[in-house]
Amino acid sequence: MPCWACERAKVNRASGYYQAGCAVCTARQLARMPRQHRVAAYAAERDKGGDVTALQQAVRKQYEIDKSKGVAQ
Ligand SMILES: [Zn+2]
Repeated sequence: MPCWACERAKVNRASGYYQAGCAVCTARQLARMPRQHRVAAYAAERDKGGDVTALQQAVRKQYEIDKSKGVAQ
């Protein structure tokens, strides 16, 4: 179920809104962060016993969407 920020990103990919607690928003935000932030987020995910691979794939997916929409840096 997409949150309001995800709905907004669908209309305007560059809108830059993120809803805390939304996994898709988190991935979209991470995809736009400098590399060291992403690495830190993956380490934090691993520390809390989360699925790092799934998170990396989600971020990758968001990055690809950004790239296809011309939003990626
Ligand atoms: Zn969202």
